Amino acid sequence: MPGPPNLRDITFFPPLKLLPHDNVFTDSDDDYYSTSVDRHAREPRKHWCFFAEITEPSWYPLRPTFQAKDIDGTTFLVSFYFDDRALFEKVIEKGLVGSTICVMYASLHFFADGQFGVRLEEPKNVKIIPLGLDKLFAANIIYRHMQSIVDSAGQISCVVCGASAAQRCSRCSAVSYCGRQCQEQDWKAKHKKECIAMRQMKAWSEFDWQEYKVHQGFTDFV
Ligand SMILES: [Zn+2]
Ligand SMILES: [Zn+2]
Repeated sequence: MPGPPNLRDITFFPPLKLLPHDNVFTDSDDDYYSTSVDRHAREPRKHWCFFAEITEPSWYPLRPTFQAKDIDGTTFLVSFYFDDRALFEKVIEKGLVGSTICVMYASLHFFADGQFGVRLEEPKNVKIIPLGLDKLFAANIIYRHMQSIVDSAGQISCVVCGASAAQRCSRCSAVSYCGRQCQEQDWKAKHKKECIAMRQMKAWSEFDWQEYKVHQGFTDFV
């Protein structure tokens, strides 16, 4: 089992400037794709996921288009090109500002008006996590720390009070608590959103990011 990924590892979680391009071929694309001689048929060499934290609400009338920032602080557009309009409504309804959109196999797109960013075309490659980047990374540190204790068969303690843990969150099985009181407190304070991120980290722990065998999308969009 490969273990939980480090979301700060730019090999698999690159910033915008390191993404392959979707309408021109560049040398850096070779880090992502193995290309056939004619450079048309290309298959990923590895898995990668791009993080876009939404910073401004959508203003564009035809398709949800947001201002976002990446792990470097670069600002760019995220535009939804889904065929399914019901999904658009769902996106708008969520009010995404402050959430992070995770995009598997993302590429950099230059829009016709000269702006750049990512075009979201495939719903199964897109997942919304209701945390900003800082909190997502903080959750990743906790997740990996808890996993390393489990792996070394160490003593697991309550993430709230530090007492000996008696129960785990049944949804993500990543964090443990001494009892119901600490669990309820943490759920209200932050774990309700963090748990969505940790469930995703659990799914991301189950395959080897270095080797592309099958497409790894998301099971649910939001
Ligand atoms: Zn406790
Ligand atoms: Zn949980």
